[in-house]
Amino acid sequence: MSELNLILLGPPGAGKGTQAERLVADFDLPYYATGDILRAAVKEESELGKEAKAYMDRGDLVPDDLICRVVVERVDSSEARDGFVLDGFPRTIPQADALGEALENLGRRLTAVLLIEAPDDEVIRRLSGRRLCKENGHVYHLEFDPPKNEGFCDQDGSPLTQRDDDKEETVRHRLEVFHDQTSPLVDYYDQQGLLRRFDGTRAPDEVNGHIRATLATLRLEEEL
Ligand SMILES: [Zn+2]
Repeated sequence: MSELNLILLGPPGAGKGTQAERLVADFDLPYYATGDILRAAVKEESELGKEAKAYMDRGDLVPDDLICRVVVERVDSSEARDGFVLDGFPRTIPQADALGEALENLGRRLTAVLLIEAPDDEVIRRLSGRRLCKENGHVYHLEFDPPKNEGFCDQDGSPLTQRDDDKEETVRHRLEVFHDQTSPLVDYYDQQGLLRRFDGTRAPDEVNGHIRATLATLRLEEEL
């Protein structure tokens, strides 16, 4: 069986997290979110983790090259032998170059870059309507899944609040950052013929079906 070396891209609220979970379950792949693997490396006190911690302790950004080495350390482990799902890396063209080079050195290459798209208006509608209960974090949506009593959790009666991250102004800003950061990467991977686009406004099952069909086709092509 050929490898599935995947990168996930997509704005907040387009269902990228859900699709990542499905991919991980369907294909038994490890999931690498950059923040998580940096934290894991720091916790394990690996050589790279110690290096990263020094930057983090100073409040500095961890440099591209170091993040890339931490990612590659994972990708080169036995758990990722059949592939991996990368989320949150690369964020920039230099990072993408570094990753491509590192994979090539391992005799591997990316299978596909999956872009889960949703229009800004839809993202804003999805995220700004979210409400969480204060006690237990139960999730509601004003439009899609409203509580029976406005402003209170059905399960424990505690008041519902909106996360700062979900406030409309914040969502707009997150989208701006996303577009600024991601457009160059989308072009970059499109030019390499690796980009595959998916409609994140569809139901999660449908998106998952499209992704699976695309990956099946890519694998067939590879085996020919
Ligand atoms: Zn609750």
